[in-house]
Amino acid sequence: MAIRDNAFSWSMSRSTRLAECPRAYYLQYYLAHGGWDPSAPPEVKEADLLKRLKTRWMWAGIAVHDTIAEVIQAIQKGGWIPAEEAEKRLTERMRADYRASNNRRYLADRKAAALVEHEYKEGVADTTWQALYQQSMQNLRNFYAMDVVGKLRGLSPQQWLSVETMDTFDFDGTPVHVVLDLAYRTADDEVVILDWKTGKTKSSDYQIQLFCYGYYARSRWAAAKEPIHLEIAYLYHREVERVGFADAQSVEGEEYIRSSILEMKRRLVDPAVNVAREEDFEPLPEARRCGGCNFRRICERKGILKNLPPAPPYGRSSWSSARPAAAPSSPRG
Ligand code: SF4
Repeated sequence: MAIRDNAFSWSMSRSTRLAECPRAYYLQYYLAHGGWDPSAPPEVKEADLLKRLKTRWMWAGIAVHDTIAEVIQAIQKGGWIPAEEAEKRLTERMRADYRASNNRRYLADRKAAALVEHEYKEGVADTTWQALYQQSMQNLRNFYAMDVVGKLRGLSPQQWLSVETMDTFDFDGTPVHVVLDLAYRTADDEVVILDWKTGKTKSSDYQIQLFCYGYYARSRWAAAKEPIHLEIAYLYHREVERVGFADAQSVEGEEYIRSSILEMKRRLVDPAVNVAREEDFEPLPEARRCGGCNFRRICERKGILKNLPPAPPYGRSSWSSARPAAAPSSPRG
């Protein structure tokens, strides 16, 4: 079956998916496309459902990100959310999400939380959920203890550039999607882009993602060559790591994106209209993540997994990106 997507675009998460497993990439970005339509074929609806699943670590990281975004948006409007109130919101959010996912409300409601662990009945111990919740709360408390909060409270309205904004920039004619956690301008006219990380692991894997943010910022806010600073805020460690956006990095980042786009297009039946075939996206045994993959039900049913060598330990690839793949999650409440 040939599947047509609406438009080709590039993002770091898309590139990561392809590097981890081309088959997962096909299922997520091509077969699942249009699964929201009630008249879509059953296999498209199934892929769309599985595509929406999050691991408990991703889910917890998103819950913390969203709560922090609420606090920052309040600051941006000149207000404030005390830590106790934010903790209450995070607790209620995680409890509600957990219950909704456990009851599989996501089958009827596309916006409801959908966890891999519930869809695949993985039987995670209560103590594991509790530990994940506790770490999420700790991340939120650490956020309040970081200097950056004081800095943000001191910004004038004109210094705010972006909070959790999804946007697109053009790269050699291809739309590139970015979601910036936070961007602001300092009193010295420097642009600072800050990205929250909720996992325990510090990593150098974020370089391309940060390059995309810098590239976007250069075209959007800093055309006149003001310095751009890219910062990773590791909530678990209560540390901020600063990386410059320099020309040398630009060359490396541009080369990465260019070759990634070429690799994606090389696999298409017709790149001009973004048409893909399943058979052109074989599983990649040495990089696959079958044990924790959203789509393993489809691959098991088709007998694909039994033809592959045993899976390597589940973990992150060298091009792992943005959202937390190794953080904590929530309470059973
Ligand atoms: S289950 Fe394995 S082979 Fe199938 S899409 Fe996922 S990672 Fe790829």
